[in-house]
Amino acid sequence: MSVLVTGGAGYIGSHMVWELLDHGEEVVVLDRLSTGFDWAVAGAATLVVGDIADQELVENVIREHEVDSIIHFAGSIIVPESVSDPLGYYLNNTVKSRSLIESAVRCGVRHFIFSSTAAVYGSPKHFPVGEDTELRPESPYGTSKMMTELMLRDCAAAYDFDYTVLRYFNVSGADPEQRTGQSTKGATHLIKVACETATGKRPHMEVFGTDYDTPDGTCVRDYIHVSDLVNAHYLALKRMRNGKGSLVANCGYGNGYSVLEVINAVKDVAQKDFEVRVSGRRPGDAVAIVAEAERCRQELDWKPRFDDLNTIVEHALNWENKLARRNRE
Ligand code: UDP
Repeated sequence: MSVLVTGGAGYIGSHMVWELLDHGEEVVVLDRLSTGFDWAVAGAATLVVGDIADQELVENVIREHEVDSIIHFAGSIIVPESVSDPLGYYLNNTVKSRSLIESAVRCGVRHFIFSSTAAVYGSPKHFPVGEDTELRPESPYGTSKMMTELMLRDCAAAYDFDYTVLRYFNVSGADPEQRTGQSTKGATHLIKVACETATGKRPHMEVFGTDYDTPDGTCVRDYIHVSDLVNAHYLALKRMRNGKGSLVANCGYGNGYSVLEVINAVKDVAQKDFEVRVSGRRPGDAVAIVAEAERCRQELDWKPRFDDLNTIVEHALNWENKLARRNRE
């Protein structure tokens, strides 16, 4: 019996692979290596290079490896890119997910975990945002994920199959043991960009908008350590295997930090000042989004280990320094 991790060579997926291996699971990774790296899982798990929409390949992998559960990370994740390329996002995140779900149903895979996003809420009026809040995504990225959530809901009602949707808030940090981390080229996420600036990979960075209705005028987000996030997935897998059924849960800590607070944390932890330029708002950005985080703790008995902004930043910086050393060698 094994777990199929799609997108397992990517940032979050590769942390998931290590989490599963640490718990003694058999893991097979399916990744087309468009943004992921084979070294992220090399020597650790079986890697199949291919597309999640290649049903012949996927169904062969499921049968050959006796896959009982799929954890589905593969997809596109950049909000502004989705605004300029909506069809690309609906293809990668919705159409191809439909194909994967169909393969899962056909082959009798019983459990499916889907990486969704807080972007399905859009700009909610109340904080923190609970799972039963109306979904009003404001970007094609958020809509593309919401559509897959709805497909899973309907499939679980129709077929012998259960699912967990985990709605990620802002995932950041890296494996404390530095076995993997965020290596994506041209990354756009705030903590990654700030760490690249602190380590000299970028000459300066930008703050997208200082005129929002927040205490310091910059957007507020709930940053969650990637290792705590993947642990929630492992607990969700155990929960479904124990017959507890489907679940939709937020993955965040319930703490909000502004863009400027994050940048200051990176400067403090790195003990380095760097140039920060103010620029205009970025399309598709929600003002503020912070998780109501109780369901994950209660339903999964989730006990986060790294709920601290400086720890997240420290692990992200350690990984950035490791990448910089590797590039020099
Ligand atoms: N951000 C920024 N400068 C950057 C990258 C991000 O000011 O170089 C801001 C972005 O506008 C948003 C917040 O940081 O308000 C978090 O953005 P990120 O891309 O990390 O995640 P998102 O919330 O869009 O998924």
